[in-house]
Amino acid sequence: QASTVMRVRVAPIAVSHVLVLAEDHTHARRVEEIRRDFVANVSHELKTPVGGISLLAEAVLDARDDPEAVERFAQRIMVESSRLSRLVQEIVDLSRLQVADTLHEPELVDVGVVAAEAVDRVRVAAEARRIDLTLVSEQGLRVFGDAELLATAVANLVTNAVNYSGSGTHVGIGARRVGDSVEVSVTDQGEGIPAAEQERIFERFYRVDAARSRATGGTGLGLAIVKHVCANHGGRVSVWSQEGRGSTFTMTLPAAADRPRAVADEPGPT
Ligand code: ADP
Repeated sequence: QASTVMRVRVAPIAVSHVLVLAEDHTHARRVEEIRRDFVANVSHELKTPVGGISLLAEAVLDARDDPEAVERFAQRIMVESSRLSRLVQEIVDLSRLQVADTLHEPELVDVGVVAAEAVDRVRVAAEARRIDLTLVSEQGLRVFGDAELLATAVANLVTNAVNYSGSGTHVGIGARRVGDSVEVSVTDQGEGIPAAEQERIFERFYRVDAARSRATGGTGLGLAIVKHVCANHGGRVSVWSQEGRGSTFTMTLPAAADRPRAVADEPGPT
């Protein structure tokens, strides 16, 4: 009743203000919902490795007279704790990216160099699975941004390409200029992603196959990080994929102007 009376009084003078206020309110509620979901997800995701580590520690104590068993359990504790520390790191990275929405101190970044650095980070894991990585990059591809974040994003895509492909396959990484954009794409010959899931994989903690993701040491945050890094650079990430054939992920970033206006370009005092 009260709200009807108010709307009648307010509407003739400021309909748009009323609408904007209502939208702000919905937005704030949505942000709060997202925050609550994130906290719930995080505690759920942390409980798995923490629970695993404490069970394994008990197993070590029970098996104290059997050195082989002790070693086996200790190895698994190491695997679980490294997954846990990666998870914590990625949660922190993602929270920062979400809060910031923009970049701290953007600089001119050479995307070819960033892509090479990202490929290097994944090379050992790829070799272990006999997957060969090929990088083809144009020269002088520049964007304005954060080199470390961009390298993390590309490395996440290459890591996934390796993790979700069979041994002996090929992963291609390409960087090129397309119009006003710089594109970095990662193509694999892996298992592919069902069409119905292709949008959801960019959500935090969403996995097509949770057991498979866990087996590869995945945290479920890799693609959410890629999405936020692209958004913070004014770009986006997209996926093309066919089940059983493979996937291509493409990051599209606004190219920096060919010749940035530097201090030296300013007409100096004569
Ligand atoms: P994860 O740590 O589980 O790999 P991501 O956020 O990086 O988390 O990816 C989310 C899910 O998307 C993965 O669990 C997997 O199901 C799917 N996925 C990501 N990249 C690929 C790929 N190259 N090929 C097939 N599936 C993929």
